[in-house]
Amino acid sequence: MEKIILTGDRPTGRLHVGHYVGSLRRRVELQDSGEYSKIFIMIADAQALTDNAENPEKVRQNIIEVALDYLSAGLDPKKSTILIQSQIPELTELSFYYMNLVTVSRLQRNPTVKSEIQMRNFEASIPVGFFTYPISQAADITAFKATTVPVGEDQMPMLEQTREIVHKFNSVYGETLVEPNILLPDNKACMRLPGTDGMAKMSKSLGNCIYLSDPEDEVKKKVMSMYTDPEHLQVSDPGHLEGNTVFTYLDAFSKDDMFAEYCPDYNNLDEMKEHYQRGGLGDVKVKKFLNSVLQETLAPIRSRRAEWEKDIPGVYELLKKGSEEAEKVAAETLRDVKEAMKINYFEDKALITEQSERYSS
Ligand code: ATP
Ligand code: MG
Repeated sequence: MEKIILTGDRPTGRLHVGHYVGSLRRRVELQDSGEYSKIFIMIADAQALTDNAENPEKVRQNIIEVALDYLSAGLDPKKSTILIQSQIPELTELSFYYMNLVTVSRLQRNPTVKSEIQMRNFEASIPVGFFTYPISQAADITAFKATTVPVGEDQMPMLEQTREIVHKFNSVYGETLVEPNILLPDNKACMRLPGTDGMAKMSKSLGNCIYLSDPEDEVKKKVMSMYTDPEHLQVSDPGHLEGNTVFTYLDAFSKDDMFAEYCPDYNNLDEMKEHYQRGGLGDVKVKKFLNSVLQETLAPIRSRRAEWEKDIPGVYELLKKGSEEAEKVAAETLRDVKEAMKINYFEDKALITEQSERYSS
């Protein structure tokens, strides 16, 4: 079977290093592997509006930011189709039909939606669109017949929901939709990168991010004030690794050869961790190393961004082309869906003959 990728991001802010390790870095590797016949990368503006309905300008401004972040991270418009969700009306239509296959209580059980409702203080009044966004995500994934969805851990419940919708649809209406698989980062630190404040998740909405487009000095400032081990007061104190954000970031970003280059006292991260736990290694030294690691990771991204920033109309043009291309694929799926659901009245010649025979006999 053809291997097809769909994944995306909400244009609610610039992309951060959590997106990079959770999904973006993997996408670029998959794109360059040549194993996938099609790769769709979606800027999920319609989904962003489900909790930003009163702030459309924020969504509008961030379309170009996310697109620039994609291109600077190494997504290549010749190999990957970058599209804008709202420009593909077929996705909305599919969502509407899938809504009949999902119960309210099933949506209420979704742990990601639950915690997002809490985070946004939506408990008293949840916008219906926000509550049902897992259904619209199922439409996005199935519209492109995606087999593979590379995302962070917070997306697991969405993929489960999508698979349930696919099963239900196929069992009621006949084999039509393709069941997708989630592709999680293989490194635990990357599944849900914490914020610089030590909070559970780096998230645009929480303001605890290091952005891919942050300038060098800004990254350094954020790293030097990062949350570590609150009990590690003196250099000689033994330090703890659990919940220590600086070490989580090193797990996600550092490579052995970076030690030789920036911190030759250690051969690898295990040795550095061991010294920290034993006592005698100060936070400042670890943070300086992390800063070098991040700067090395971000430097090529920054320079590609500077190039693309010179051609903003060109970026909009490739988003337009990508959306047009994607719409063709979604339209095919919608046609299959309507045929399976028997709501393709005018294409169904047999129906018209059957009804006219019934009335003429
Ligand atoms: P918002 O706060 O608006 O929801 P977000 O920062 O959670 O923004 P999304 O656009 O919802 O970002 O997520 C896009 C992708 O990035 C998803 O695949 C998600 O799993 C992944 N992702 C987001 N934050 C992290 C993180 N901290 N660690 C790993 N992956 C992440
Ligand atoms: Mg999110």
